[in-house]
Amino acid sequence: MTPSYRRITFEGSELTGFASEGADDHIRIFFPAPGQPLPSDGPQGLESREYTPAAAASNLLTVDFVLHGEGPGSKWAAGAKPGDEVWIGGPRGTMVVDGEPHWWLLAGDLTALPAIRRFAARVPQGVPVDVYLTSDDKADEQEITSLGDLSVTWVRSVDGNPSALIAALEESPRHEGDGFAFIAAESSAVRPARALLAERGIGADHCVVKGYWKRSVSDFHDHTH
Ligand SMILES: Cc1cc2nc3c(=O)[nH]c(=O)nc-3n(C[C@H](O)[C@H](O)[C@H](O)COP(=O)(O)OP(=O)(O)OC[C@H]3O[C@@H](n4cnc5c(N)ncnc54)[C@H](O)[C@@H]3O)c2cc1C
Repeated sequence: MTPSYRRITFEGSELTGFASEGADDHIRIFFPAPGQPLPSDGPQGLESREYTPAAAASNLLTVDFVLHGEGPGSKWAAGAKPGDEVWIGGPRGTMVVDGEPHWWLLAGDLTALPAIRRFAARVPQGVPVDVYLTSDDKADEQEITSLGDLSVTWVRSVDGNPSALIAALEESPRHEGDGFAFIAAESSAVRPARALLAERGIGADHCVVKGYWKRSVSDFHDHTH
């Protein structure tokens, strides 16, 4: 799609009936060991990582991979060819936003872009949706669409560091009413993002703030929520 981003569509009869309701649901993809075929008896012992179902229909599932260079997920996605196989577990359901928030604040780096796209796609006409995205390279900026009253701000990061994203969020507009915020990026974003939302009176039931990866840590899990 762009220099650091590759869209891969999986096909398989086992995907029939796959349903993902929550915009930030995730699946676990189990990758074959480098140079080895995928074991046919299951994913036991394989490296796995979490990804967002970007789109699913009949027996197709689309996932957008960030090619950041290291790790089994990024390496597999960079080298994947038609016919390559993986095991997939999930989706793990997340919160499905109830009712219709009065406004939306969606922010993150390229790993959060699939979830942000899905949130933005469900915002009704006229409802404010402020999107803040960060990427190291301008060439990785992508289009977001929404029926809502959409404003998209791209912020430049260095090595995925989310500090510029947080600084931009501090300047984000405040809207009237009860809104919903989703913020996911490198894990050092979590604490300042939560503080920013708390300062605006946005409670835990009106937001999701999550570390999607952690600098210098392989297979990171965010246990802070
Ligand atoms: C709920 C959820 C949904 C996610 N959805 C997606 C998605 O749709 N698409 C997607 O690409 N990712 C997504 N991620 C993030 C993805 O799981 C992590 O980036 C994961 O670390 C990738 O595994 P890896 O094998 O490539 O790297 P790892 O083996 O985990 O890490 C190897 C090295 O790479 C670094 N690293 C990991 N990710 C990045 C990055 N993005 N940029 C720079 N350095 C990095 C690590 O710090 C480590 O030093 C999601 C994460 C969560 C929790």
